[in-house]
Amino acid sequence: MKVVQVKCPNCDLPLNMEMKDELFYCSNCGTMHTREAQRVEQIPYEIADFRKDTLIDNRVYIPFWRLCTDFRIRSRDVVGGFFDKLRQGLNGDNGSGSLYIFVPASHMDTAAFRYWAVHLTLNNPRYTTRADFAGTRRMPASTSRDEAIEMADFVALTLEAEKPGVLQYLDYSLTVQQAKVVYLPFMSSPSGLHLAW
Ligand SMILES: [Zn+2]
Repeated sequence: MKVVQVKCPNCDLPLNMEMKDELFYCSNCGTMHTREAQRVEQIPYEIADFRKDTLIDNRVYIPFWRLCTDFRIRSRDVVGGFFDKLRQGLNGDNGSGSLYIFVPASHMDTAAFRYWAVHLTLNNPRYTTRADFAGTRRMPASTSRDEAIEMADFVALTLEAEKPGVLQYLDYSLTVQQAKVVYLPFMSSPSGLHLAW
C-alpha cells in the first residue's frame, strides 16, 4: 500500500494518507477532505452507528456519496414506471422536487454497485450518527465527488430500467445541490456484506 504524508488542511496535523483512498479523514480535528483535480476540499460527512449486536470484528464501514438532487420531470408521457411514481410524489404540477441519490464510493462489482445504488436511493437509510469511527475499519473510497455527481443520471436511469413504465418520451433534468459522504455500517460474513444498523 502506498502511503504519503500530508498535512491536514484544517489543523496542520501530519497525516498518513493512503494513496488509494479518495477521502482522507483527520482523527485530530475530525474533518474529511477530498481531492478534486488540484484542489483539496473539506467535505461534509456522516458516520452511522452500528447495531449493538454486530460483532466488533465483523464491522466495516463502506462510504457512499449521498447526492441531494433537484429533480424535474418535464415530460408527461411517462406512465407507470419509476419516474411516473416519482413525479406523482413531487410538488404539484411543475413536477419537481428533491431526491437523494446514493452512489457507492468504494470499489464494487457492477451488480453490487447497481444493487446498493438502487436499494439505498429507493429506501433512504435512517440511522443514528456518531462522532467518530471508534477504530472500525473502513473501505477506501475510489469514487471522487465529481465522478459520483457524473453518475447521478446513471443511477436515475437504472431506477427506471429496474421498474420500467411505458416510456415514450422522457424529458427530465437533475441537478446535484449537495454531495455528502455517509459511512454506512456493514457486517462481513461468509455470505457477503450485510447492512448492520
Ligand atoms: Zn485535522
